[in-house]
Amino acid sequence: MPDLTHNPLRRLFLKSMVAALVLNVSPVSLAQGNKSEIIAIRIWPSSTYTRISLESGIALTFRHSMLTSPNRLVIDIYDLTLNVILKHASQLVKPNDPYLKGIRVSQFDKKTVRVVLDLKQPLDPVVFTLQPVAKFNDRLVIDLYPKPTSVNDDPLLALLQEYNHGDLNIDQKLSRTKHHSQSQKKTRWVIMIDPGHGGEDPGAIGKHGTREKDIVLSISWRLKRLINRDSKMKAYMTRNDDVFIPLEVRTAKARALHADLFISIHADAFTNRAAQGSSIYALSRKGATSLAASYLAKTQNESNLIGGVSFSGDSYLDHTIVDLMQTSTINDSLLLGKEILNRFKTINKLHKNSIEQAGFVVLRAPDIPSLLVETAFISNIQEERRLRTDRFQQQIAQAIYAGIKAFITSDVIKNREHP
Ligand code: ZN
Repeated sequence: MPDLTHNPLRRLFLKSMVAALVLNVSPVSLAQGNKSEIIAIRIWPSSTYTRISLESGIALTFRHSMLTSPNRLVIDIYDLTLNVILKHASQLVKPNDPYLKGIRVSQFDKKTVRVVLDLKQPLDPVVFTLQPVAKFNDRLVIDLYPKPTSVNDDPLLALLQEYNHGDLNIDQKLSRTKHHSQSQKKTRWVIMIDPGHGGEDPGAIGKHGTREKDIVLSISWRLKRLINRDSKMKAYMTRNDDVFIPLEVRTAKARALHADLFISIHADAFTNRAAQGSSIYALSRKGATSLAASYLAKTQNESNLIGGVSFSGDSYLDHTIVDLMQTSTINDSLLLGKEILNRFKTINKLHKNSIEQAGFVVLRAPDIPSLLVETAFISNIQEERRLRTDRFQQQIAQAIYAGIKAFITSDVIKNREHP
């Protein structure tokens, strides 16, 4: 399957097709005039939340309501007729889905399809539509979030909820973190590992179907285990399973857990299958250091559009103080990057001998040294094969861990009051 996400030409082609032939995006919708048609249903269950994505030829209009005893979410979709995809929706529900019990679909009246989601517990659903992007047509997205409980010590759910309500306040979190680190002496370096992509956003896909999101999750687990064996460090992950998490929520989680370092793990594609080797990226406040860096930042920043967010806004403020903080943070990021890159040399070719920089959204925490690690090119046939092996995944995790260890014990860092 071609990877449209990471192919700018193909994306451009798709965009112009959508613009020129609005009614022709799906052949079925042409046959039926203006009526929308469901062309795909995907369900992404995860421990964090379950996402249901209904893809259609043209934008859907809908109304939804929550009902209790039993708990269910009813969505009426207008100007829609039942088709075979909708009729088989219930078969897509996994028995181990933590939130969704079943789906019932019926033709409520001539023009309306009623979708009833039977729920396993009371939930806080978020329902929204997404415009066509990359390989996706219009989408109606239903996110089933659990209600917040006091026993949950993972801040991810609370942050996702703040994000969905449009009030994920990065600035406030910044001051909170500073206050915390002054009042409470930490004994371990907190490392936030960020497995790229997830859920509806597969990331890049190799020639043999290897998905970036799966490989990077596996490498991240390995890295987490290595770090947590070290008495000087503690690792967390921005996602623990195959779930889509918006970029800003990933950084917010790092801040909420008072992370000292942030490492985003990827295995991306390039238009040219010959491209190979590992590379490491840091944030740039000014511009990209190379065309490849700028291309990569652009594709990574599109993750929110591909994975799909109900709310989007960049709440980072361009205050001078944040700028200053960011400059020293970027310097630390470059030092850390060098340590890791030095170790990559022994296990893989390097795509670039130095750390590259570009405007990655996920690296924008002003006070946390952050890196995006491109482990290898999943678009390169040899590297795709290596990325699938336990051995290479473990070598990558080991190299990153050793790089972090060298960084935190280096003279520059050791002599600071840290952590
Ligand atoms: Zn990626």
